[in-house]
Amino acid sequence: MPEGDTIRRLADRITERFAGQRCARSVTRDPRLVGLDLTGAVLVEADAFGKHLFLRFLRDSGERLTVHAHLLMDGRFVVGPASKEHEWRRRLELWFDDGRLTGLDIPLIRALPTAREHELIDHLGPDLCGPVPPDPVTVAARLQHDPDAPLATALLDQRNVAGFGNVYAVEFPFVVGVSPNQSVGTIDGLEGLLAIGTPMIRQHAAKGPRNTTGRRLGTADHFVYGRQSCPVCATPLQHWTDRDSPWGRVASWCPDCQRVTPRRTVDLVRARRLLALHPVRRDPLFPRADPAPTTTAAANETEVSADP
Ligand SMILES: [Zn+2]
Repeated sequence: MPEGDTIRRLADRITERFAGQRCARSVTRDPRLVGLDLTGAVLVEADAFGKHLFLRFLRDSGERLTVHAHLLMDGRFVVGPASKEHEWRRRLELWFDDGRLTGLDIPLIRALPTAREHELIDHLGPDLCGPVPPDPVTVAARLQHDPDAPLATALLDQRNVAGFGNVYAVEFPFVVGVSPNQSVGTIDGLEGLLAIGTPMIRQHAAKGPRNTTGRRLGTADHFVYGRQSCPVCATPLQHWTDRDSPWGRVASWCPDCQRVTPRRTVDLVRARRLLALHPVRRDPLFPRADPAPTTTAAANETEVSADP
C-alpha cells in the first residue's frame, strides 16, 4: 500500500526517467480526464507531498498544467515499459522518448493549473519526505491537538503530518512500546517516536524498500505488521480488522509490551535495542542514548547497539 515514502520514490523515478521529454502521445480512459490531451507537452518534473503525486507539464503556449494523482490503496504507476493490463485499467498512458508512463486503477486523478496545486495540500500537515525533515517536537504537538484520538488515528490523519500510512501506524507504536489504541493526550515523549519515524520514512523514500527492522535490508520486513506473535515476548498479537478498527485499517499490537495504561511514556531504550541493526540509528535526528547509562537495561542497550 503506497505511503509517503513510496510516492516520493515514484516521483523521483518519473523525474529521472522522463523529465525534460516531450509527450509524443497521450491517452486517457477516465471521465475526470475527458478533454485532456498532453500531446506535445513537456514533463517538467514529478513531485510528491505526503501521499499526493504531481506530474507537472509545460505546453509550448507557456501554460503550466499538473496531473494530480492519489493512489489510495490500489492505484499504481508503471514507469518505462508498456503495461500489459487491460485497457480499462490503464486510466492514463503517456508516451515519451524514453518509454511509457501508465497510471493503473488510479482512484483519484485530475488535471489542474500548476498554480492551483496548493489547494489540494494546504490542509495537510508538514511533509515527512519533503526537502527538510519536519521538527519532531512540532509534529508531536500537532498529533496531540486532539488528545482523545488513538495514537494510530493521529499518525494516519494527514492533517497532522503527511506521509505516514498504515504500516508505520502499526510498526512505530510497537517499536516504542505504546499501544496504537493509547490516547495521544496520555503519551509522554511522543517527539521520540517522531525522531525515529521521520528519518526512517525518509531513508525508505531515498533507498527503499520499506523495512522497519533493519534485519534484512533489501527486503520488506516488519516487526508486527502482518505477523501473529510478538518478536520480543512471543505473546500472541491482538488485531483489528479494517472493519473493527476505530481508524478503519488493520492493526496489530502486543497486549503485553503495548499495554494501555493511564499514562504511557515512549520507550526509547526499547526502540534503540529493536533498531540496533537499522541504519536509521545513524541519522542525526535519531535519539541518542543517555550519556552515562547506569541501569542494567541501559547497559544491555549499549551492548546490542554496537555496530555488527
Ligand atoms: Zn510483546
